[in-house]
Amino acid sequence: MARALVLVVCVLAACGDGLGPPRVRPAPTPDTQAALRVPGARSPRAASYRIDARYDAAAHTITATETLTWRNDSGVTADELPFHLYLNGFKNETTLFMRSSHGAHRGNHPHADGWGWIEVGSIKIGGQELRATATYQGPDETVLRLPLPAAAAPGATVEVTLAFTAQLPRVMARTGYEGAFTMVGQWFPKVGVLTGPRGFERWDCPPFHANSEFFADFGVYDVALTVPDTHLVAATGVLTAVEPHDDHTRTLRYHAEDVHDFAWMIDPYMQVMSATADVAGTPVEVRVVYRPRQRAFARRHLQAGVGAIETFSKLFVPYPWSIMTVVDPPPEAMAAGGMEYPTLVTTAADNVLMRPGVRVPEFVTVHEIGHNWFQGLLASNESREAWLDEGVNEWADALVMAALYGEKQSAIDWNGWKAEDLRLRRAIDPDLGGLPSAIASTAATFPDSGAYASATYTKTAVALHTLAHVIDQDGARFAAAMKRYAETWAFKHPTGADLFASLEETLGEDLDWFVQPAFQHPGGVDFAVRTADCQRNHPPRGVFGEGSARRTEVADHSPATGGYLCRVVIENRGTIPVPVTIEVGYRDGTHERFTWDHRDASRWQEFEFARSSPIARVTIDPEGLVLLADHPLDDDIRIDGDRHAAWRATARLTFWTQSLMQVVGL
Ligand SMILES: [Zn+2]
Repeated sequence: MARALVLVVCVLAACGDGLGPPRVRPAPTPDTQAALRVPGARSPRAASYRIDARYDAAAHTITATETLTWRNDSGVTADELPFHLYLNGFKNETTLFMRSSHGAHRGNHPHADGWGWIEVGSIKIGGQELRATATYQGPDETVLRLPLPAAAAPGATVEVTLAFTAQLPRVMARTGYEGAFTMVGQWFPKVGVLTGPRGFERWDCPPFHANSEFFADFGVYDVALTVPDTHLVAATGVLTAVEPHDDHTRTLRYHAEDVHDFAWMIDPYMQVMSATADVAGTPVEVRVVYRPRQRAFARRHLQAGVGAIETFSKLFVPYPWSIMTVVDPPPEAMAAGGMEYPTLVTTAADNVLMRPGVRVPEFVTVHEIGHNWFQGLLASNESREAWLDEGVNEWADALVMAALYGEKQSAIDWNGWKAEDLRLRRAIDPDLGGLPSAIASTAATFPDSGAYASATYTKTAVALHTLAHVIDQDGARFAAAMKRYAETWAFKHPTGADLFASLEETLGEDLDWFVQPAFQHPGGVDFAVRTADCQRNHPPRGVFGEGSARRTEVADHSPATGGYLCRVVIENRGTIPVPVTIEVGYRDGTHERFTWDHRDASRWQEFEFARSSPIARVTIDPEGLVLLADHPLDDDIRIDGDRHAAWRATARLTFWTQSLMQVVGL
């Protein structure tokens, strides 16, 4: 999801007004594209679904049957199938989701008349009814465990058919309805993932927690949606057939391959604009689905969407599917905005304050589309390692935004104000070293959503940016190694350990010195110039020699030579030993740079200089490449006179101030 949402203040009046009653729409034309841009199975396809669902637009309910074809790709025998029933997280105030979100998700509260739930009425294998044997497990009803009547050995396939009814909630946490708009996500019983070292796999199917997102196996989805003929549907995959009925409904058949989720939107007022992205010489259709009054923003989302598909494809692996749909929810349904699903994302930030050049709407679109790589293709476990999709995606988003809009103005280029994406984020999140939890923490173990978000999004992204610029000055080698990681792990379930092993192999470097303190433990980087002073250089004074040869040298006898002896002590009060450039400027206008590489974990270093001119300024990290560093104000000092160091506002302080003013201005 996109954290930029927290910045967004909804000032547009509710949409939907003035649109009149829903009117019958012409039947949509089936898509001519195949589901995959280049045909051929890409993933193991271990969990495939056929779903036949009917949507009641008045009651916001779905009645459906679902057939899951699950293949045991693990090395262990499975004697049960656990299913996520995410919608039950919205059932009442006692669910883990509601308790862990303190009744609000990103500031959105549940509505008294808008609880959501899902009820599985029937579960059959081989025609045998098994519903009575399935039990809820955990603190609420978000996980249903089905004992298998016959255990599934490695390689065996199980076909299970479930009948269910879903009541969508008033929109909260990515899913539900508001007015005539409905976003349908996490809406069907979804099997967990058998994961772990080969031969020791275990089910991963945790109860739904406010900070946890999702994890599932790849498969093929064939989903038939029977909906009112007044409504437009946007969904994962491609539309393969449309069947009209004589009760003012029609059935839309969708097909998706090598995806691990299926989501859809339904709305009677939405329109579609589209454009074509070029991916490795083949077209990808990018669509934006929007309400008419959001047309100007839709154009911005479309331009960002095409750029995102093309740029992520070049930086990592080519987008494998043929369509990308960006749903732009009406402002009153903002809780549905900023969420990723395979081949379909929701965007946000259509706000009058987001003038052209204030690129929050573009960023949300880039971020959500980026998730089609970081989680859509590289299907990591979001509840166990949220940073591996959110934070890695944020790091990649910065590259994409820079490629699309220019590095210095990747976030803002408005009225003379310019701001760079990751630096702006850093200004909003100033104390990463003080976070209570390590980046590599399970989502449910963070003390609150603020700590979760700062570690998972910002700290991860700036840690990777910092590491990239330690590897080489412009980060290009690191970016190339990330591309290799994407190529190696696409359509699989990489872990954080897999990511760093892949990077180490490609780079030919041990990264443990950084990965351990930066990802596995709390703490940060906090450079400071501890001491910086100079003394006039002169021959030694005092008493020298013995007996008749004894003499005393005093100042008159040993005048200053005109040179200076200067001493600078640099320290890192944090826990992550990032090599850093130090620049020393002299009063005669010359300067020199050197590197303090303290990967041996020394906390400070003294440097001595003898020069003809005294030190005028000491700057740690003059290029500002160590984005992980907290408290930048003591990283840059000027020395007034010969001996006195003075902390002074310098160019970097001006930068941070401007960034913060921009944030406040937002
Ligand atoms: Zn995200």
